[in-house]
Amino acid sequence: MSLPDSELPRTEDEWRVRLSPDEFRVLREHGTEPAWTGEYVDTKTPGMYRCRACGAQLYPSDTKFDSHCGWPSFDDAIPGAIKEIEDNSLGMRRVEIRCARCDSHLGHVFRGEGFTPKNTRHCVNSLSIRLDPSNT
Ligand SMILES: [Zn+2]
Repeated sequence: MSLPDSELPRTEDEWRVRLSPDEFRVLREHGTEPAWTGEYVDTKTPGMYRCRACGAQLYPSDTKFDSHCGWPSFDDAIPGAIKEIEDNSLGMRRVEIRCARCDSHLGHVFRGEGFTPKNTRHCVNSLSIRLDPSNT
């Protein structure tokens, strides 16, 4: 499931041939899929959400919750799997989240909204992740 380090693309051209055009636009060009269109918005299936670019484990399904914002939302992540970058684009102060392993764009993280006891919402594009359903 996870790309070995030796096979991780080093250039954007290498990513482009591995990913679909939509995946490339979101993961490598920091795009955002339209709200309510992603395949995982309402998914409840147990498993592990992995980075769609490199396969790294990002979010266990038990961190997913219904935020009604139109994108898959998680209130926690695998420790060390995510890196945060200040994003001041579009005239907003937001915190971008990327896969710590391959630097692909996932979405944004918001805090203090009170959705869950962890008070954190990782707002993630479905195109950035892939669910690996558990066998249990
Ligand atoms: Zn990755």
